[in-house]
Amino acid sequence: MLRSFLLSAVLLSASPGRLAEEPIWGFTPDAARIEREWESRFATIPSTDSARSYMRRLSGQPHHLGSPGGRANAEWIRGQFRAWGWTADIEVFQVLFPVPTLRRLELLGPKGYVAKLREPAVPGDPTTSQRGQLPTYNAYSIDGDVTAPLVYVNYGIPADYERLERMGISVEGAVVIARYGQSWRGIKPKVAAEHGAVGCILYSDPNDDGYHAGDTYPTGGMRPAEGVQRGSVMDMPVRTGDPLTPNVGATDSAKRLERSDAETLTRIPVLPISWSDAQPLLQAIGGRVAPGEWQGGLPFTYHVGPGPARVRLAVHFDWQLVPAYDVIARLPGSVEPGLWIVRGNHHDAWVNGAADPVSGLVAELEEARALGAMYREGWRPRRTIVYAAWDGEEPILLGSTEWAEQHAAELQLAAVAYVNSDENERGFLDLGGSHILERLLNQVANTVVDPETGLTTGQRLRLARIANAPESARADLRGRPDLRLEALGSGSDFTPFLQHLGIASANLGFGGEQPGSGGVYHSIYDTFTWYGRFADSSHAYGRALALVTGLTVMRLASADVVPYQFGALADAVEGYAGEVKQLLMSKSEAVRERNRQLDEGVFQAIRDPRSPDALPRRDSVPPFLNFAPLDNALAALRSAAARYDSVAAVRFSANGPLGAGLSELNTALVQVERALAEPVGLPGRPWYQHTIYAPGLYTGYGVKTLPGIRESIEQGQWGTAEAQVTVVAAALQRAADRISAASDMLARLQ
Ligand SMILES: [Zn+2]
Repeated sequence: MLRSFLLSAVLLSASPGRLAEEPIWGFTPDAARIEREWESRFATIPSTDSARSYMRRLSGQPHHLGSPGGRANAEWIRGQFRAWGWTADIEVFQVLFPVPTLRRLELLGPKGYVAKLREPAVPGDPTTSQRGQLPTYNAYSIDGDVTAPLVYVNYGIPADYERLERMGISVEGAVVIARYGQSWRGIKPKVAAEHGAVGCILYSDPNDDGYHAGDTYPTGGMRPAEGVQRGSVMDMPVRTGDPLTPNVGATDSAKRLERSDAETLTRIPVLPISWSDAQPLLQAIGGRVAPGEWQGGLPFTYHVGPGPARVRLAVHFDWQLVPAYDVIARLPGSVEPGLWIVRGNHHDAWVNGAADPVSGLVAELEEARALGAMYREGWRPRRTIVYAAWDGEEPILLGSTEWAEQHAAELQLAAVAYVNSDENERGFLDLGGSHILERLLNQVANTVVDPETGLTTGQRLRLARIANAPESARADLRGRPDLRLEALGSGSDFTPFLQHLGIASANLGFGGEQPGSGGVYHSIYDTFTWYGRFADSSHAYGRALALVTGLTVMRLASADVVPYQFGALADAVEGYAGEVKQLLMSKSEAVRERNRQLDEGVFQAIRDPRSPDALPRRDSVPPFLNFAPLDNALAALRSAAARYDSVAAVRFSANGPLGAGLSELNTALVQVERALAEPVGLPGRPWYQHTIYAPGLYTGYGVKTLPGIRESIEQGQWGTAEAQVTVVAAALQRAADRISAASDMLARLQ
């Protein structure tokens, strides 16, 4: 039976009157009243003490994929869900997870040095000295043993190689050393191999996350001298998940590729090291002085090489299949059980992983405890709620991808949304997701109060964005009722749901205060002790995240009408369309200007005559592209969205239940985001099907919006760019048609 609860101090405390009167998108006023009572009850349950105690337990031992600690955590999580009244099971997949059997990095000359390749334990932090830690390495590097001269390539992104080329330096046959940062790590060996390098070393420069950024652990929170960033170097922008079972779940009986046919493994051996191991290597590199922006934080002048430093890099792996344990828990829906809200956070870490992933996982567990308690008290979500704790996220989103691939057909019919979290610490709410969720997420952000400032998390974020915005963007920030969602690239488990299956997704978490977890990211120093000292000593943000994600799930599960709003989508896509047109124009202007300067002899005049840089290449000016199909589809989308949003606003403000046809409407609404996915996939990477959001082919986690068009323009593939304009236009038109059909259904509801 439903009881009335006092409004919690955390919800609505900033201005209860105003917020309490605001309609909740998707709910009729009567339903909103009941929803608010349950939300107030919900907010009384998650506690900072629980968050702390789960974190102590789940980060108490190394728990990477395939480890005894990982399995124990999965079983404990399943037990908690069951104790809280959920049905919960573990779904097992068999995935390729190479662990090194040999790692050797040696400077052979001019001086000798053997890299230590280990992170020492820290006094006062007992979990740093435990057995069972994975060594420092990059997962999905191929085996190799290479000896070659060393070249310093800065961050190792494509622009750095253009610079090297102009300096007349080739990495052909060399081992490159690149610092972490500026792109996803897997991009670095990929670009190095494309330029003919035979091996790749990645290191953490003290400028980026070490002593230049702050005091180092254990004094402060930043990366110590021997701290190493582990991580995957698989070709994630091509696809995520088990390299041997593309497109299908990695079950026992799945057909597997030969390893030699797995296209997402690296083409050259890769190894990550600390700056302490990098120092003698970098110091031994001669040749030209590295450009000013390439200088790092170590106390000597960085040179580019090649040589005289010569290194031997050898890595070998066991290439084993290991079980991934996904915990899947359910609360059944009472009216529309065939529609699912999926919520996930991974449970595996590289080592102890207090910040990554346990800080987000504890919020998910507190939501589950609260929802389970409310279910016993009589709360009945309209739709089914599925809570997942994924295994194997760190190697390459293995648990989530295999589950999404295994259940793709069901998910495409059932999934209303996927709500993700991962690392979480003090700071500002990160508001990322599909734009049809923008209204929903803004309303939630305006309801939950930031634990340290007393502002709502939405208000604090708006003010922070105003502080950081260029002048041209401030009027929009001040005048627009909703904060724009950040488009999602990759970097956590939302990718298979959003970008492979076309399921509307959100990625939520707090962060941004110093020192932040960047300094211990993927090292043995990401521990319970570190987290309590430097990330969130009160665990108040674990509770705050549970409120944000919990309310998001509750509203998705209980709204009369699935709470999508489409104006924000039209708005966002219109902005992206403007950007790609601008990109083409500025590219044309840049080419024209450079060609003109070549004609004028500018580059010959300014280069040092005694060590002349090569002249830049003369490019042909990009052709005009026909964006008319995109503009037409956008106009259709905009008008369909405006009509739906206004019909919906009227329905949501009228009392009385919405009658027959509601479930059909909701089933139809779920297919709108799906319309934005194109089954043929993006150019050269068919697994990625979303036409609006993708991780960049050459940036990794960073998002590329309208990726098919944008990346073709960036790469000068004009034919593909124009074809992609048509593909995106067709997807937008499909979405517009489905939105129009939904408007008709909504208008007809009794
Ligand atoms: Zn993570």
